[in-house]
Amino acid sequence: MVTASRPAHPLAPGWLTVPDDANDFAPGVWPASITRADSGQIEIGGMRASELAEQFGTPVMLLDEDDVKGRAARTQRAFASAVARHDGSCRVYYAGKAFLSSHVARWMLDAGLNIDVCSRGELETALAAGVAADRIGFHGNNKSVAELERAIGVGVGTIIVDSAIELERIGAIAERIGASQNVLVRVRSGVHADTHEFLATSHEDQKFGFSLAEAEAVVARIRELRSVRFLGLHCHIGSQIFGINGFRESASRVVELHERLLEGGPVPLMNLGGGFGIAYTRADTPAEIEDLADGIVDAVADECAARGIELPTLAFEPGRSIIGPAGITLYEIGTTKAVTVDTDGGSAERLYVSVDGGMSDNVRPALYGAQYSARLASRTSDADPALVRIVGMHCESGDVVVDHEYLPGDVTPGDLVAVASTGAYSAAMASNYNHVPRPAVVAVRDGRARVILRGETVDDLLARDAGLGYTEGEE
Ligand SMILES: *Cc1c(COP(=O)(O)O)cnc(C)c1O
Repeated sequence: MVTASRPAHPLAPGWLTVPDDANDFAPGVWPASITRADSGQIEIGGMRASELAEQFGTPVMLLDEDDVKGRAARTQRAFASAVARHDGSCRVYYAGKAFLSSHVARWMLDAGLNIDVCSRGELETALAAGVAADRIGFHGNNKSVAELERAIGVGVGTIIVDSAIELERIGAIAERIGASQNVLVRVRSGVHADTHEFLATSHEDQKFGFSLAEAEAVVARIRELRSVRFLGLHCHIGSQIFGINGFRESASRVVELHERLLEGGPVPLMNLGGGFGIAYTRADTPAEIEDLADGIVDAVADECAARGIELPTLAFEPGRSIIGPAGITLYEIGTTKAVTVDTDGGSAERLYVSVDGGMSDNVRPALYGAQYSARLASRTSDADPALVRIVGMHCESGDVVVDHEYLPGDVTPGDLVAVASTGAYSAAMASNYNHVPRPAVVAVRDGRARVILRGETVDDLLARDAGLGYTEGEE
């Protein structure tokens, strides 16, 4: 353990220690290919930060392509070998909502994964990318009739049923077009997990799925429907989870219901969702994916063995853990400002550092109070570390990019700054708030960069404005 050589700043949270070197990369937080070039610049995928900024502008989201592919392959291997120890089989779905484009969909297929979608847009992206329909899982608590018609029409592999109303719609559509639609029934196990904690209740107050008590009747109804085939139960207990105890508790509840359902017919599959946590800061210590896979699979296998039932095919749906750590966002600093803040014993200064993006390209800090890590990207510096709050350019005081970080104290306008682990749920959640165009997403690999999602321009925004460019006689 390295001990902090400098006293912590009075406004710093307890988990953030003063780094010995405010240019270093916290282990596990940054993409696999990140290094410092001799010039001090950050290099990712063999490309220097300044050349990327010049070529694509800032902000820009960069994906370390080999890291994404490597994480996908490693996840697939981890679950395959975990189930092989019990002579079982598995299917891994990439949760497309974390970030989906045609390139990413194909990287996942190449690594042996399937794809989960939860809207018409995600479904069409996967199909257009060439994902075979039977490798797609379709989620959502309010899929429209048009979405269901499209999904059943193209033959998606599984639809995860979320309500009784939806089930009847699926039954009617499948019947009408002569399809046989595989479905899973989403249940709330009463376990909800978030990072280190999990909460176990018998009734969970949230919108997704059926309670364990309701699910039996739903499955009985599916078994009456000629055009719908029941595959098994689905349960997703939350996101950014570090431990396996929540998964274990949930799995034991789901297996109990699974056993009861076997009395009425086959139940070949069980889907335990995703939610594996990643390191956003050096205070986060997620488990290795192999340990998680082994732990969760062993828990289900032991529970099945104890009940004397066969281990079903197990399915998993990780999103964040595959793409999150492989992405960084590059911003340019525009202004800095020292703000004096009252503390218990007096006052302290916090250095606000404003960048050219913010909650429109990463809403997680504003939405969840999410923490991130940052480093100067265009140079290194020996200046003493200063506690900074990196903020965006939007008209909201909650427009925070990195809440608490130490950067070299000489941080100044024109510096590039990189924010780590932005690969998941940042570009995917981007908005045009304040009429800010959404940034490009660029894949970097072996010294080459290619745009995988074009950045928007102001013209793109103006093109939607029906009051502009009208032709005479239209009004
Ligand atoms: C969001 C979600 C996932 C993926 O969660 P991650 O935290 O990105 O792994 C998987 N399954 C379902 C049903 C989800 O809603």
